[in-house]
Amino acid sequence: MSQPKVLLLGPPGAGKGTQSSNVVDEYGVDHVTTGDALRANKDMETDHGTPREYMEAGELVPDPVVNEIVKAALEEADGFVLDGYPRNLSQAEYLDDITDLDLVALLEVDREELIARLTGRRVCDGCGTNYHVEFQPPAQEGVCDDCGGELVQRDDDTEETVKDRLDVFDENTQPVVDFYDEAGRLVRVDGHGTPDEVWASLREEIEAST
Ligand code: ADP
Ligand code: ADP
Ligand code: ZN
Repeated sequence: MSQPKVLLLGPPGAGKGTQSSNVVDEYGVDHVTTGDALRANKDMETDHGTPREYMEAGELVPDPVVNEIVKAALEEADGFVLDGYPRNLSQAEYLDDITDLDLVALLEVDREELIARLTGRRVCDGCGTNYHVEFQPPAQEGVCDDCGGELVQRDDDTEETVKDRLDVFDENTQPVVDFYDEAGRLVRVDGHGTPDEVWASLREEIEAST
């Protein structure tokens, strides 16, 4: 069987990063995530300025910058789990031109829960693993279980920027969800359970799609 090509859609905080790690562990595919790629290149000069200016305001980085990142990453991948892209219709159309997806899964979580997840999120500055101060705490406070790295809060995980990001999702990315839905390509996954429960549902959908 060839490696699955999975697109994970969902608002900020829905658990895309957390579930992507499960997909990678299970299938050995590449994790392609524009958020991490942009954070690693925040001060890169582009024709549109640096990613930092947009990210700190919770706004979308211009399409040409992210399209190029995704194209390069998908060219190198056999299977992949794509997370954080596409975030508007023009990115979704671009993606259809460059690859065929096996599964488009939407992680559904309500807004109140998203705010609680994002404001409590902590990320390892060594290996990028996600934690949550309450829902997924590390064994020792502030220290990564996997690599011993320091757990930090992202600049954009403050309550104010979180609300802006959720509004950007409703305005720009909801049309992407509708685009796949209207084409009969969208599978909805309830994102409210424990990470293991959500993974069991997602895994079933991946198995059914390949
Ligand atoms: P996304 O990549 O969609 O923004 P993350 O995977 O980073 O989402 O998850 C956001 C936060 O919520 C993290 O702090 C993570 O530990 C936590 N989280 C992820 N999945 C769940 C879940 N099923 N239940 C509770 N908290 C979760
Ligand atoms: P989250 O994990 O909370 O969903 P991400 O890490 O995916 O957030 O994205 C963080 C920020 O990076 C976004 O607020 C946006 O500024 C930028 N970004 C990430 N992916 C894209 C994309 N596909 N298009 C435009 N901007 C993006
Ligand atoms: Zn770590």
